[in-house]
Amino acid sequence: MPPASGKVKLPTLQAVRDELGACTRCKLHRGRTNIVYGVGSERARLVFVGEAPGEDEDLSGEPFVGKAGQLLTRMIEAMGLRREDVYICNTVKCRPPNNRNPEPDELAACEPFLKGQLAALRAEAIVTLGKFAAQALLRDNSPISRLRGTWREYAGVALMPTFHPAYLLRSPGEKGKVWSDLQQVMQKLGLKERTGAVS
Ligand code: URA
Repeated sequence: MPPASGKVKLPTLQAVRDELGACTRCKLHRGRTNIVYGVGSERARLVFVGEAPGEDEDLSGEPFVGKAGQLLTRMIEAMGLRREDVYICNTVKCRPPNNRNPEPDELAACEPFLKGQLAALRAEAIVTLGKFAAQALLRDNSPISRLRGTWREYAGVALMPTFHPAYLLRSPGEKGKVWSDLQQVMQKLGLKERTGAVS
């Protein structure tokens, strides 16, 4: 029930984190060192949602700090922003063993917390990185090559799917497509580019 004022009380990032607790809701908890909840500004206008923590993230507790993360940081800076200006999280918050893909039961167990984070943030735009984040939020199994580059909506927030930076490390020839997706995001947020491309 909404409070008597008629206003719906929105979650805070900390309330969602508290609810997550020392999570054992799925099997990924067995192999993790740290829960990788998310990092960045509570007042972010833009949220990046990746797939799952890797080894560096599991050890540090922070998303996107390894090689793919360094590329994500360059992408954010090319947009004229700093990492601290945005919010960064993942579809699952614990590292899958040997960096395998997250499984459906793991995605389902973690989804309420991602939803809670996005509801708390109420950002102006969400960028999903790679197929798992796009498919999880959009409930659309189309390949990421088809999803990327077109605005969609998630819970009333504009959502731009693009390729995952780990894919760009393997296929640098695709960086131009990601840059064009990010330019659409910059246009929506009224941002001026700083470096002119994703290097
Ligand atoms: N890849 C992801 O999807 N997320 C991370 O946090 C790191 C690498």
